[in-house]
Amino acid sequence: MKKTPHKVILTEDQMPQRWFNLRAAMPEQPDPMLRPDTLQPVTEADLAPIFCEELARQELDAEHEFTDIPEPVLEIYKMYRPAPLIRAYDLERALGTPARIYFKYEGNNTSGSHKLNSAVPQAYYAKQQGLAGVTTETGAGQWGTALSVACAYFDLSCQVYMVKCSYEQKPFRKAMMNVFGAGVTPSPSMTTEAGRKILAEDPNTTGSLGCAISEAVEAAAASQGGKRYVLGSVLNQVLLHQSIIGLESKLALEQLGEYPDIVVGCAGGGSNLGGLIAPFMADKLRGVKAPRIVAVEPASCPSLTRGRYAYDFCDTGRVTPLARMYTLGSGFVPAPNHAGGLRYHGMSPILSKLYHDGYMEAVSYEQSRVFEAAVFFAKHETILPAPESAHAIRGAMDEALRCKETGEEKVILFGLTGTGFFDMTAYESYLSGRMTDYVPTDADLQKGFDSLPDIPQNRGL
Ligand SMILES: *Cc1c(COP(=O)(O)O)cnc(C)c1O
Repeated sequence: MKKTPHKVILTEDQMPQRWFNLRAAMPEQPDPMLRPDTLQPVTEADLAPIFCEELARQELDAEHEFTDIPEPVLEIYKMYRPAPLIRAYDLERALGTPARIYFKYEGNNTSGSHKLNSAVPQAYYAKQQGLAGVTTETGAGQWGTALSVACAYFDLSCQVYMVKCSYEQKPFRKAMMNVFGAGVTPSPSMTTEAGRKILAEDPNTTGSLGCAISEAVEAAAASQGGKRYVLGSVLNQVLLHQSIIGLESKLALEQLGEYPDIVVGCAGGGSNLGGLIAPFMADKLRGVKAPRIVAVEPASCPSLTRGRYAYDFCDTGRVTPLARMYTLGSGFVPAPNHAGGLRYHGMSPILSKLYHDGYMEAVSYEQSRVFEAAVFFAKHETILPAPESAHAIRGAMDEALRCKETGEEKVILFGLTGTGFFDMTAYESYLSGRMTDYVPTDADLQKGFDSLPDIPQNRGL
């Protein structure tokens, strides 16, 4: 029997030179983003004070199918890309499945996740526009790390507000960001009005993403235009940058004469999933192929499977424009699960629309089942996955087990978004049997829904 190779790594020359804009292939567009004050669709001019000019353009561009990746961005990409597409032979054997399982591994860079793919262009466009720097928030630390790596390369200042409890739990994340020259401030802090206010009310608070965002936004605003606040997921521009994952995957599979029957990815704000599925979803929308597309989310933060399709703020700080998406409400506070990157209240408007229109499925898992899959995968494929990525592993394994029952030789592709090196506390908790699962009750969800903006567009949902 002829065995395909264990992995395909495209050559640097084969690496895509353009990002792919999934919106250009959509028969119906997501509803427009709205200004919270006028409830009118946002324009590039509205976005200019928030985003870099080129990123504002990308955010609203539903027309152009491709955007050239700037040369300096390609140069950094080539330091860690193309990323490998790996055939999970041993996992298949261990599961006893006739399915052929492939995964795209995005953890082979110092930041440890796919987030660098968007951090690099965001930093590049900021530099090109002559900005002094960027500010952002980080929860678990992956986005802050990726952004600090990108900013160091372009000699841009980077100020990261890190949720205080993560700052204390993950001291090495801070050290790493410091190596790359970023300033890391535990949030809430005394450096901003928003932080001082929250600390005055509750000096012992462990912080929250919402608060960190407020501080990052305030710091950018205080720079009088010299800095911008940047986000690592959810936005259309981020999905555009992450399309490199899907484009490379498709090329690599083509070299093997394969096409996925099922594409599986974990979904926090939707950036890796949106990037991974982009070219495959486009085939589906155009009727060329009919892959199943499956989003996997934590049961503790189930925006697709239990959320509402409503207008909401993209951030918990309520400063961004309103986007129509599957959301639990920006006031929803997810239980402290171990996949920090998936603890997000909303979902990319592009993916939300595709899900709403029936082009995509979604499943949710409790974290102990996810870690069970993570440990199984690690033992068989020798890679320690990030807890976020392990959601996709769980989803792919369950699809492969269904193939075992039916005898179908399906081709399954999933996204392995990052490494778990910084998540050993979570693994320790799982292995010692101390991990608890949490599923919000309908009453818990209602509290989040109550925080949805009370605007005409949301009435009657
Ligand atoms: C941030 C993160 C995610 C989730 O973010 P998306 O925007 O949904 O892709 C998944 N995996 C890893 C490793 C992450 O760091």
